Amino acid sequence: MGYYIGCDVGGTNIRAAIVNSDSGDSFDLTVQPTNAHEGHEMVLARMAALFEELIANSNLRRDQIQGIGIGIPGKVDVKNGITNFITNLPGHWINVPVAGTIQRLMGIPTYILNDVRSITWGELKFGAGRNCSSMVLYAIGTGIGGGIVINNKLLLGNSGQAGEVGHMTIVPDGILCNCGNRGCLEQYASGPAIRSAAIKAVAHGATTILGEMVDFDLNRITPHTVYEAAISGDRIAKDIYYQAGRYLGIAIGNSIVHIEPERVVIGGGVAEAGELLFAPVREELKRIATLAPIENIELVPAELGNNAGVIGVSMWAKHNVMAE
Ligand SMILES: [Zn+2]
Repeated sequence: MGYYIGCDVGGTNIRAAIVNSDSGDSFDLTVQPTNAHEGHEMVLARMAALFEELIANSNLRRDQIQGIGIGIPGKVDVKNGITNFITNLPGHWINVPVAGTIQRLMGIPTYILNDVRSITWGELKFGAGRNCSSMVLYAIGTGIGGGIVINNKLLLGNSGQAGEVGHMTIVPDGILCNCGNRGCLEQYASGPAIRSAAIKAVAHGATTILGEMVDFDLNRITPHTVYEAAISGDRIAKDIYYQAGRYLGIAIGNSIVHIEPERVVIGGGVAEAGELLFAPVREELKRIATLAPIENIELVPAELGNNAGVIGVSMWAKHNVMAE
């Protein structure tokens, strides 16, 4: 029996909970604003206060909490517990010793991990990756993140960047990406990519209900608007998801060629479009991954939803505590 605190730091909110590492159940999930503009010192101090509150409100003794895991939305130095580069948090986050600071404030072993690698680890332990030893996860939302597990080991790569599937080049000389490269998957299949394809279609006068749905205030178009239009039969909206699915299929096909996982897990808000996205992915996979026995590779939706990061990073803390 072991209890761990899992904490998921997002651009908007910090989510934290105590997780029973045997069952994956999380208790007293607490959400509070990140307010990163107050600076990393304030954020870390508030985080520690939040953890104290979680312990005080639980019926556990402090010494029953065996570790703390913190999921960070950016590049992190996993070994040293230091943040490298975080895109979506205002303030100074380069070389911040997050794990060391929390460990000093709390007196509990603390570990950090990239947020989507945390989700990957969570889905492997208690979600859509259960009972499989190799999987690739694609998390499709505002950006596209990912994670790779091979033989039950989370692949971190030489400097911790393995699994950045959203920055796989799928179009030579394609759309410029925030990472500096052109033609990254993220520019073709993320929420903003779907949104901008929809705005373009309406602006170009395509025959679609998308414009009417937002009273022609195109800023109000979201991936969900496109989804609603598609399920009501709008051909343009369906095609936008079809194109995004094809690009996603090309990327997943490349993952399969490299790794031949047992399972590919697709999560994130955009994945809620279900078959609109999954069907073109499957079609594309048949074309691309001709050498792997594609019928044996399961393509499944993620299961843990918003709690995946909290659960996953608490289990990452356990993984490290047990290894020491
Ligand atoms: Zn990129």
